[in-house]
Amino acid sequence: MQYRDLGKTGLKVAPIGFGASPLGGVYGSVDANEGIRSVHVAIERGINLFDTSPYYGETRSEAFLGKALEGPWRSKIILSSKAGRIAQSTFDFSPEHMEQSLDESLERLKTDYLDIFIAHDIEFAADYERIWNETVPAMERLKRKGKCRFIGVSGLPLGLLAEAAVKAPIDLVLSYCHFTLLDHTLKDRLVPIVKERGLGLINASPLAMGLLSKSGPPAWHPAPDSIQTAARRASEYCSGWNVDLSTLAVQFSVLDPAIPVTLIGMKTAAEVERNIAALDATVQSELLEEVRSILAPVQGKTWPSGNWPIEPELVAK
Ligand code: NAD
Repeated sequence: MQYRDLGKTGLKVAPIGFGASPLGGVYGSVDANEGIRSVHVAIERGINLFDTSPYYGETRSEAFLGKALEGPWRSKIILSSKAGRIAQSTFDFSPEHMEQSLDESLERLKTDYLDIFIAHDIEFAADYERIWNETVPAMERLKRKGKCRFIGVSGLPLGLLAEAAVKAPIDLVLSYCHFTLLDHTLKDRLVPIVKERGLGLINASPLAMGLLSKSGPPAWHPAPDSIQTAARRASEYCSGWNVDLSTLAVQFSVLDPAIPVTLIGMKTAAEVERNIAALDATVQSELLEEVRSILAPVQGKTWPSGNWPIEPELVAK
């Protein structure tokens, strides 16, 4: 495994990170033993960034990960969690909530510090100035107290993440669904800014939250029909080649050195092994080109999220 620098944090990350939202049941039921094994196999195989949130499965993901990391495992990894998003439509980015939520995360995760603490889905904040002037300063205080080592923000709209990179004294940003076979706008819209400012960049959801896989997305997936149909056609085309679209999707996201780490949601050891194998597999360039042309009509299209106004030309119909 080759490790890459996460901005100027000094952290070295494997190109694949472990996204723990599936361990909270976000993508269907989880087999407890298998879920724990997936965490241990990932660590043994060199994956070192693990990401969770109290929001995933109403704290179940954190509790699961806390159990899996008991014993020697915690000290081997970079542990990331979040605060601010409590439920589908419930948010609290106040300084008081950020501290209380972090304390509760530490308890569930059975640790006394997070390596990375992230304000979760900031596009849902009612007033972004308060994120810069109240939430982030509160997170800096938690950093000084030793409860976390690095701080950042996450969200869907790249315009807001770019604004955060410029306005807030953060160490990193987490973006999702913007560096995939369907949408690689992250490269032009965020990579140059984070690079210029020496920030870490965590890319997430290379399968576009299950869209780019043979089994397809969960029922809650927010992408409109046009994107879902294109993804389904791409998957069917791959099946004709005896390839699971997810393999191609993982390769596309993790092989670009401009992106230090890509979080993939996993809950079985087999998924961990398949995703690690994708790092070394040869990319079938002819197939990749065909898939990209199938997805071209919706390339770079996204969907609204929170209160941030997304440019109308980027919103899929
Ligand atoms: P993803 O694109 O990683 O897809 C996850 C789905 O793909 C799950 O159903 C998983 O079981 C399946 N999968 C994984 N490997 C597979 C393989 N090889 N073949 C077939 N299916 C496979 O989406 P995600 O899990 O939502 O995103 C990754 C992680 O990034 C999350 O778990 C979370 O930690 C983080 N994230 C953060 C935010 C945020 O902060 N706002 C948003 C999205 C994701």
